[in-house]
Amino acid sequence: MNKKSYFLIAALLISFTAFSQKNSLNAIKIDEIKAHMKYLSSDALQGRRTGSEGNIKAGEYIATEAVKMGLKPLPGNKDMFQTLSFIKSSTYADSSFIILRDTLGNTLNRVTFNPVMIPSERIDLSGEVIFAGYGYMNSKTKYSDFQGFSFKDKIVIVMTRRPDLDGDGMPVKGEKVDEMTEMRKLTPLLMQGPKAILFVADPAYGDEPVSGAFSFGETYKLSPLFRKAYFDFSLNLCFISAQEANKLLAPSGQNLDDLQKKIAVTKKPVTFNVPGAMADMIIGIKQDTVYSSNIVGYFEGSDKVLKDECVIYTSHYDHVGIESDGTINNGANDNASGSIGLLSIAKAFSVLKNKPARSVVFLWTTGEEEGLYGSNYYIENPLFPLDKTVAEMNFDMIGRSKMEADTGKVMGERLDITGPDTIKLVSARDSKEIIDINVASGNEVGITVLDEGKGTHFSGSDHYPFVLKGIPSVFFFSGLHRDYHKSTDDYEFIDFDKILKVSRAGFLSGYKVANNPARPAINLPGKK
Ligand SMILES: [Zn+2]
Repeated sequence: MNKKSYFLIAALLISFTAFSQKNSLNAIKIDEIKAHMKYLSSDALQGRRTGSEGNIKAGEYIATEAVKMGLKPLPGNKDMFQTLSFIKSSTYADSSFIILRDTLGNTLNRVTFNPVMIPSERIDLSGEVIFAGYGYMNSKTKYSDFQGFSFKDKIVIVMTRRPDLDGDGMPVKGEKVDEMTEMRKLTPLLMQGPKAILFVADPAYGDEPVSGAFSFGETYKLSPLFRKAYFDFSLNLCFISAQEANKLLAPSGQNLDDLQKKIAVTKKPVTFNVPGAMADMIIGIKQDTVYSSNIVGYFEGSDKVLKDECVIYTSHYDHVGIESDGTINNGANDNASGSIGLLSIAKAFSVLKNKPARSVVFLWTTGEEEGLYGSNYYIENPLFPLDKTVAEMNFDMIGRSKMEADTGKVMGERLDITGPDTIKLVSARDSKEIIDINVASGNEVGITVLDEGKGTHFSGSDHYPFVLKGIPSVFFFSGLHRDYHKSTDDYEFIDFDKILKVSRAGFLSGYKVANNPARPAINLPGKK
């Protein structure tokens, strides 16, 4: 073959590849993204919490779409479901209560409450009851609800909000019960080792329900059965109504209303042990086994040898479900957006006549919000050999852009949401080559891919277990917005054009990595 015809064929090949890539980019359509979002973020899926019916429906929807696009189960698997099992612990009607007894053991009162966190085992404890005002300390004014008291082994009652010591001594009128203010009270309280902490809405707050302000007002707890040991964290932290709190305070002859006014008038704490009484606190738990699946499919590579290697795309489809007060967290951005990104990328690969040299695996994980369970399970039970997995690309929260209200902090973290034309690329910078490919792909489709390095959320999503295995990984992330893990993370705030562009950039990058003759170079081998 002479040089001229060689160049001609090379040029034809390049233009053919470019042409088919363009077809693929055009196969990602905004209307389809919207239709997927409409369903995945709908109330019908009840926030897609792992182990719930809505979670299973979401997984089935994704698997059905994946089959339509021609994705195949991994070799040796009948279908695309990689199933994990969990013990689900939940409370039941009237399973959480306190019996207040006098010193002779006679019942004085029976109090019901909502646990903020569900324990994985039955709780049965006893302790003296102590009223600790607002559980508030202010070093400037030297006000302290803690002073001179020990909370060790006690059941502590704490009012929400804090006294306005520069004003009338009551909480500032109209001030909301703020999660961060309440959470900040916990550290000094917990350091003393109480048996339980009971939050009660301060009487001046009125009747507005406050438990929803605590984002982890959960309805059940999951313990993964594939783990012998796992992080089982629970606090005996509860919400009781003012009426129930008054039943516990009754032996003292005082009630919440009077106590709050007393603090306001004197601007002094009124912490005291409830005299002559002991409390038994019970949280009854029922347990079931529940199942939830990672959805895993792939396109086989076109090269006889390189098809034994793969690029893997990951994204979690689970979210945090329903609050104990019934509020649904639809998780439109977290992470219907990323799951739809993967569906869109799969669509782009599906229309390629010639698949890339390497295989391309798609992993929609479950259990991410519970502790990266789905991705860890995959890493421990990989369906494609990990040493042949040349790169991983994760998509979590890719559908929001900065709006006017995105200022300040959410849950104590600074909002760092990107604008409509930018997406963060979080990584250990373990492969400069992959970062460069992603930045270039972004430029080709009109979105700036910002090399963020580890940033502040490096260990917080499904790429992380891959990083720990030394697989070069990147994580596409819009940044934190005001509705993060709130019931307002909804369809109407989604930037669909951003999902479109990020999906296109993700497709191009994965295509290039899957098609390059050489594996991507690694600069920093990750920890094994
Ligand atoms: Zn997420």
